[in-house]
Amino acid sequence: MSASSNPNFKQLRVAVVGGGIGGLAASVALRRAGHVVNIYERRDFNVEVGASISCAANGTQFLREWDIDIPHMKPVILMKLVMRDWETGKILNQYNLDNYEKEWGNVYNMFHRQDMHATLLKTATSPEGAGPPCTVVIDHICDSVDYENGIVTFKNGVIVKADMIVGADGIRSVVRQELGIVPQVTSAPQTCYRCNVERSVVDDLGLVKYSYEPAIHYWGGMMGRNGRSKYYKIVMSPCSGGDIISFYCFMPTEMTHHHEEGFVFEQAPVKDILVGNYDELDPNCVNLLKNSIERLPWRLYVHQPYPYWFKGKACLLGDAAHPMMPHQSQGACQAIEDAGALGIIFSDKYNFTTDVQAGLAMYQVIRKDRATRVQTASARATENLNERIGFTSLTPHDASLAAASGKLTINEMNSYRMHDHVAAEVLKLGS
Ligand SMILES: Cc1cc2nc3c(=O)[nH]c(=O)nc-3n(C[C@H](O)[C@H](O)[C@H](O)COP(=O)(O)OP(=O)(O)OC[C@H]3O[C@@H](n4cnc5c(N)ncnc54)[C@H](O)[C@@H]3O)c2cc1C
Repeated sequence: MSASSNPNFKQLRVAVVGGGIGGLAASVALRRAGHVVNIYERRDFNVEVGASISCAANGTQFLREWDIDIPHMKPVILMKLVMRDWETGKILNQYNLDNYEKEWGNVYNMFHRQDMHATLLKTATSPEGAGPPCTVVIDHICDSVDYENGIVTFKNGVIVKADMIVGADGIRSVVRQELGIVPQVTSAPQTCYRCNVERSVVDDLGLVKYSYEPAIHYWGGMMGRNGRSKYYKIVMSPCSGGDIISFYCFMPTEMTHHHEEGFVFEQAPVKDILVGNYDELDPNCVNLLKNSIERLPWRLYVHQPYPYWFKGKACLLGDAAHPMMPHQSQGACQAIEDAGALGIIFSDKYNFTTDVQAGLAMYQVIRKDRATRVQTASARATENLNERIGFTSLTPHDASLAAASGKLTINEMNSYRMHDHVAAEVLKLGS
């Protein structure tokens, strides 16, 4: 990193707790801003298989800004959203995304979580690229945080001191607990299983080829025949360059015997998915599910927004700050936006590196309202599919209708300019 033109700029030592998508994105953003970042992860990275992760224009924008090698993430660029009948698979509605890039300046990428993770890790630690390479320390479980003095203690006895601590330790965050936040959590009425089908299997068995075309297909999600609950829903999309077809299979919570919140690494038999009204599901979809691998439960809980996101020198980011239902496909994008905010606020454009606490207060101003809006809209979309961005607001006409009704719109997600927002808020501080 070349010397900063801002004489007040101070290079910070940052401890990032958690090396998921959010922690790695924050590390890249802070590295690009010229800071020395150490990432502490509780385990090795090769433990789970994962599934697709949506990265809409608002996330892709930052990947480009940070000079990430997006082709290395093996993206599938989405061109269509297709709604299908639960029982027959007949197309009920189709939304084209042909103009998406032209309209929003960036494409809608679908990644496999592992590809995205591997590329962010490579970018964070590579000797090439702007800013000092980050260091990754695995097998370090955060045990406690002294946010006043910037100290993190790990279960293995290691103690580190930093100018800033980023708690990116996911849905069951220890850093959050250390900041004194007690989550208000309720079990979601809907639960999920993730699974994958290999494209080669689709071809070998002559299964439906539309499964690996660049589109998201949905089944269910609304009340159906025979009193079928709206909680029965399937989201299918290709990822990993189209080599893997990823499924999210939702159902009413009472249908599952998996109860632990978040991502569980215990493989489930296909019979755990094909329960209840799955016996009426489109036979093409059932065939795909019967040939799936890597079937893992993802138990969903609803977290009320937290009262604050930082204390002293420590802040929360990603799922640790705003765990959300998956129905706006914004979990990763919102973590990326958090990372973007830290990178901008602690860049040499501003003077926050001399007052980390003031910088984290600004981070909360920039991020909390927007992320909370997405978080609450994700919970609403559990109950009403029309609350989902993309189904209601793809045209300017629909966007203004949606905005008038208070719905989250694609426009507010993709037209948002964080650099301008930070500049405006900093100006207010000076006035
Ligand atoms: C294993 C896994 C699989 C996922 N699969 C999907 C998926 O298929 N589809 C999807 O949409 N989203 C998935 N997600 C969630 C998605 O990645 C996140 O919602 C989003 O990217 C925000 O990420 P995050 O970094 O805030 O949290 P996470 O991705 O949850 O990352 C948190 C990281 O912190 C680490 N950690 C936790 N506690 C500690 C501790 N005490 N000390 C040190 N490290 C700690 C965890 O091991 C993890 O690496 C998955 C997350 C995980 C962890």
